[in-house]
Amino acid sequence: MVDIAIIGTGVAGLSAAATAVARNKSILLFGDEQIGGKLNSAHEIKNFLGFFGKSEEEIHNELKNHMDSLGISVTPKKITNIYKMGDHFSLISGRDIFEAKKVILASGISFGKPLAGEIEFLGRGVSYCATCDGMLYKGKTVAVISYSQHEEKEAEFLSEICEKVLYFPMYKEAVGEVLSGKANVEVLKGKDFVISGGMKADKLVYDGEEVGVACTFILRENIPPAQLISGIEMDGNHIKTDRQMKTSVEGLFAAGDITGTPYQYAKAAGEGNVAALSAC
Ligand SMILES: Cc1cc2nc3c(=O)[nH]c(=O)nc-3n(C[C@H](O)[C@H](O)[C@H](O)COP(=O)(O)OP(=O)(O)OC[C@H]3O[C@@H](n4cnc5c(N)ncnc54)[C@H](O)[C@@H]3O)c2cc1C
Repeated sequence: MVDIAIIGTGVAGLSAAATAVARNKSILLFGDEQIGGKLNSAHEIKNFLGFFGKSEEEIHNELKNHMDSLGISVTPKKITNIYKMGDHFSLISGRDIFEAKKVILASGISFGKPLAGEIEFLGRGVSYCATCDGMLYKGKTVAVISYSQHEEKEAEFLSEICEKVLYFPMYKEAVGEVLSGKANVEVLKGKDFVISGGMKADKLVYDGEEVGVACTFILRENIPPAQLISGIEMDGNHIKTDRQMKTSVEGLFAAGDITGTPYQYAKAAGEGNVAALSAC
């Protein structure tokens, strides 16, 4: 069991990791190995000290060198559930379980509303995690609405166990060969989605076309906090925290965009630092 598990490799998570390690705590840092989060998508940074005019590559290298110098490595896993187990936490990613005394949630925010039927049917024909739930739909037809190219690997896994995968890429990059070359993967275009059914969701309507699917997998970078950890107190789309970045769940802290506006690097870095000090 580590002292602190940090979820998110954006500015908030990296700042928390650097602070926790400086305080001699053992950590697990979960997220994308391409560290930096949304820092990687900025065209030009004017208001984050030390990053003025730097290219995406320079920023990435800078962050990587910093983490390497502190001996911090990323565990490239997406956490799908966090459970409070009395005095510690269990974190779930697919079939892997990790344990930590404290947790810092720095998983950023995704923009946009849930799809029609998404929340209503979550866990009943709607899933956020192919690795966790894929086997339930072995041999069946499933839909994947994917908001990031990174999720193609998850869809590839589904293509290995499901009869057919209807893949809706919601990103601008071309779909990679891992999927486009597969006979049982159909890449489709869609914008307006409605998930419907009876006890379980078994239909997906996209732009007026209806298909029967055993499950609709919605793969976004961010899982809504209330789905990650039950009972967490929210303020709209954001996790409610105090000035020490404590949440309503004892031992769980939050930092960065996930705690609210302004969505800014400096705020994310500062909150990551405070969350880590509080967790220490
Ligand atoms: C195009 C653009 C330009 C911007 N320009 C500026 C600017 O010039 N100045 C400024 O101050 N701010 C700017 N911002 C805002 C800034 O990017 C954010 O405020 C900041 O990146 C927030 O950092 P964060 O660590 O909270 O979240 P993020 O950067 O969103 O990082 C969250 C990380 O968590 C990971 N993650 C999510 N869920 C999970 C999970 N379940 N398990 C594991 N990992 C997970 C994600 O993959 C991601 O790596 C800009 C934003 C955008 C989109």
